Amino acid sequence: MKSVWLQENKWEDVEHYLENKKTILVPFGSVEQHAKHLPMGTDSLVAIKVAEDAAAQTGTLVAPPTWVGWAPHHMAFPGTITLRPETLTNVAMDIIQSLVYHGFEKIILINGHREANLPPLKIAVTKLRNRTGAFIAIADPFYIAEQVGRRIRLSEAGGIGHAAEMETSHMYYIHPELCEEENAVKNVHQKHPFLQHDPYSGGDRVFVPSDVAAYREGSMNIGVVGDPTVSTKENGEIYHHELVGNIVNFIQYCEEEVQVTLRNQEIPL
Ligand SMILES: [Zn+2]
Repeated sequence: MKSVWLQENKWEDVEHYLENKKTILVPFGSVEQHAKHLPMGTDSLVAIKVAEDAAAQTGTLVAPPTWVGWAPHHMAFPGTITLRPETLTNVAMDIIQSLVYHGFEKIILINGHREANLPPLKIAVTKLRNRTGAFIAIADPFYIAEQVGRRIRLSEAGGIGHAAEMETSHMYYIHPELCEEENAVKNVHQKHPFLQHDPYSGGDRVFVPSDVAAYREGSMNIGVVGDPTVSTKENGEIYHHELVGNIVNFIQYCEEEVQVTLRNQEIPL
């Protein structure tokens, strides 16, 4: 392979790859407001970099990234693009089904948009896992890098949310040229404990979807929820390497231990 990226290879390279290896990574992100200090493509840039580094360490192919995701509440700020959730489900299904048609058996989605993309992506992978027999997983930083996140966080409870501590540290490490540290603003206020958004604080909680107007106001008209003022490039580096290392570990598990028999290999029509 000349590149880990599928789209930078020729079809014959893919044919040769499939003779020995049946795994592929598929990045999904979002283009949405990320306050005044991070670029709108943050979630996609994270998915792309994480996938690229894990792929390079394991000689695994990466499918083209899907840049836009499901982000209705971020429409409160200009520039955000959101798909309808069923559109994202269908895009994911068509990409995965195309890969399965060619013989990819183990498909790992790398989701850089955390919670928000998960419902539509989970529907897509559950349908196709049952229909095709392919082993399909979603690696999301919330879950596959939870331990390191809990260990290195510096902010108080509520400090991890959107454009907040962890993804800001991560971006300072992987894309410092696109960040404006001097514009990072803290927005942590006490809510009812059941409404706690911080994934590492634990506790009992309920789900209430965001409303566009309420989100704008609740994010101080800036788009930040949490505390990016404590973020550091050093913590971003630790976070990135543990996140990538866990994905590498999972790729190795998929290749060595997961057995797949494909069925219903159909072209999406
Ligand atoms: Zn983000």
